[in-house]
Amino acid sequence: MMKLLKGKVAMVTGGTRGIGLATVRTFLENGASVVLCGSKPQTAEKAVQTLKAENPEYDVCGISPNLSNYQEIENAIKDIVQKYGKLDIVVNNAGISCSDKIYNYKPEDFDKIIKLNVNASFYTSRAVAPFMKEQGGGVILNTSSMVSVYGQPSGVGYPTSKFAINGMTKSLARELAKDNIRVNAVAPGVTDTDMVSALPAQLRERITSSIPLGRIGTPQDIANAFLFLASDLASYITGVVLQVDGCAMT
Ligand code: NAD
Repeated sequence: MMKLLKGKVAMVTGGTRGIGLATVRTFLENGASVVLCGSKPQTAEKAVQTLKAENPEYDVCGISPNLSNYQEIENAIKDIVQKYGKLDIVVNNAGISCSDKIYNYKPEDFDKIIKLNVNASFYTSRAVAPFMKEQGGGVILNTSSMVSVYGQPSGVGYPTSKFAINGMTKSLARELAKDNIRVNAVAPGVTDTDMVSALPAQLRERITSSIPLGRIGTPQDIANAFLFLASDLASYITGVVLQVDGCAMT
């Protein structure tokens, strides 16, 4: 198998389960060294152990910076650059959702979603961009969602955060292109992870029945898109929000 990320160093937030874990595994299979971020040291370590049990050769380690704290992210990125000599790829994948109706929506839940889904992606981009510029280039990948195209009929904070991610992706792509830093996003459709099993069954069924490809996505479907965009196969692609959603139109 051709290893698309041979010699690359990557950091993946929310790498302990779901789409993030599948992305970490796919990057490792493709020859990258990967630092995965979890919200707790125990979950990060557990994911590392799972991967090492699959293949002891994998170069993977786990960290758990507080993604709401810029200084912790900057320190984590400095540590990675010090350890590996560079950081080629950052995948901003950690995200949370809340599907409450506006009448019950707690303002603090809105704040939490924006803090993790939007601010943390800005923080990692802000912290890594100078290093990527210095080393001659890099790739920043964000996680959007199909709801960034259509919105959704409840849970307004989540689509708001993903529309913001699209704006950040396109703007940073324009700003950082001259430094050979590509910035793209993947917009998953309904994907079979904990986040989706937490959705009300009615909403999940309604969304699923409208998918032309006739199934919900797998974490691997999304990881494959991240792999492509992270690799040199996508060397002339920046500022794109790649929908990976079976042509869903909900
Ligand atoms: P998940 O709930 O299975 O995993 C979320 C990850 O984020 C976990 O690794 C978790 O540790 C991390 N995380 C959560 N809160 C955190 C915090 N406060 N600090 C640090 N890390 C935290 O989610 P998933 O379904 O794999 O989703 C991953 C990304 O894909 C998210 O950005 C999500 O919005 C997006 N997405 C998912 C779907 C879907 O259908 N599953 C669809 C569209 C977009």
